[in-house]
Amino acid sequence: MAKALSPDPSPACGRGEICEPLRDFHLKDPRLELIATARRMAECGINRGTSGNLSVRHGEGFYITPTGMEYTALEADDIPWMPLGGNGESQDRRQPSSEWRFHHDIYATRPEAQAVLHAHSTFAISLACLRSGMPPFHYMIALFGGDTVRCADYATFGTQELSDAALKALQGRSACLLANHGLLVFGKDLKQALDNAVELESLCEQYWRACQLGEPVLLTQEEMTEVLEKFGNYGQQNPLT
Ligand SMILES: [Zn+2]
Repeated sequence: MAKALSPDPSPACGRGEICEPLRDFHLKDPRLELIATARRMAECGINRGTSGNLSVRHGEGFYITPTGMEYTALEADDIPWMPLGGNGESQDRRQPSSEWRFHHDIYATRPEAQAVLHAHSTFAISLACLRSGMPPFHYMIALFGGDTVRCADYATFGTQELSDAALKALQGRSACLLANHGLLVFGKDLKQALDNAVELESLCEQYWRACQLGEPVLLTQEEMTEVLEKFGNYGQQNPLT
């Protein structure tokens, strides 16, 4: 009887057995890793249908999920590449998500961003509809680079105005909420972008639940500074990975 092979954690991606199926994708074609991560968004409960979008930096531009396609139907050639400084039209067979502008502007202005994720997740939207960011009710808020997660001003989806508002809310942060819309995060790679989005949605839910019970006691600036310094000691921005 054939012996089952145990997973071979890849030193190339350093992601352990859970990401073993992604290893070859990661090495061969970033579009396939993008598709696999986009499908994980639904499995992780942060997205439904075609409402979110995801991108990964590649060369002097980025690959991004196309407009109006279910992630389950995507093939590598469905993923358009967009150049930095482009006008939003791709030379590939599909056109990019209508939200390509804030993906583009994050890559253009935040060199540390290697992957960008936008989702319409329930608890993030609930807070964003109050146009409320998150105060330091939990130390994990520091994961995103500061002592709050801001909510960007409202603007119509797909507009430059929305991208400008998002970039402002992201100053010094790797995540923000978009008023009456959803969440936006970036990371050093696709996996971290997804992890950060899942963590942000969890924090939104926890904050919402705490607010049902009373008024959460917030951490002080000193307490948050200590956490931010401790997170910095991991040698990378994200202590989850
Ligand atoms: Zn959206």
